[in-house]
Amino acid sequence: MPSSEFNLLTLDVAETFVSLQGEGAHVGLPMFFIRLAGCNLRCRWCDTVYAQRPLKRFLTLSQLISLWEQNGALKYVQITGGEPLLQKNVYPLMEFFLKKGVKVLLETNGSLSLEKVPREVVKIMDLKTPSSGMEKYNNFKNLAFLNGKDEVKFVIADRNDYLWTKKIIFSFYLPVFTNVLVSPVFGRLDPRELAAWVLEDRLPVRFQLQLHKVLWGDRPGV
Ligand code: SF4
Repeated sequence: MPSSEFNLLTLDVAETFVSLQGEGAHVGLPMFFIRLAGCNLRCRWCDTVYAQRPLKRFLTLSQLISLWEQNGALKYVQITGGEPLLQKNVYPLMEFFLKKGVKVLLETNGSLSLEKVPREVVKIMDLKTPSSGMEKYNNFKNLAFLNGKDEVKFVIADRNDYLWTKKIIFSFYLPVFTNVLVSPVFGRLDPRELAAWVLEDRLPVRFQLQLHKVLWGDRPGV
């Protein structure tokens, strides 16, 4: 049982739902998703605009844990946003799930320090490409907190983004210590074009399409 303190600690939550993981090494696995509200960035092609601003829909950690239990106590929990690291109470929540033996995935825009994120959490970190308009917020110091179970994600809208991505991958030797994912901005870049560039360059990355968008368009799940 969560500690009584969990009845007092709250998080601003945009939504919770069960869906299939849409990206990365865990693609296709059913998970419980917790999307926190509020983001410090404003990416041009943001697909979760509704979670950019704080919503003041506060749930206690106990309530969130109850929702997870009511939804089958799945062994995978993904915490996403918005930007989840803006809210400090996300840390005790991650610790709780880890202690329960749950695999915790954290999706972050990478602009805030990952230093205090527990090692066991699977970190899925964006590096913002130029077309996002948020490139200057990339915090490359965070690469020091990633390892072989974590993922760096580039979302690519055009050829310029691709060339930038390639340069970053090789400058920081990303594939040597972590997993590198590239995907096209949904509806903006033909996936076949990106696939052709990756193959032409023999780029050591995982090309991916967001499974949930293939299945359900802009909705996160069924
Ligand atoms: S970091 Fe994510 S949630 Fe924030 S604006 Fe960019 S795409 Fe949207």
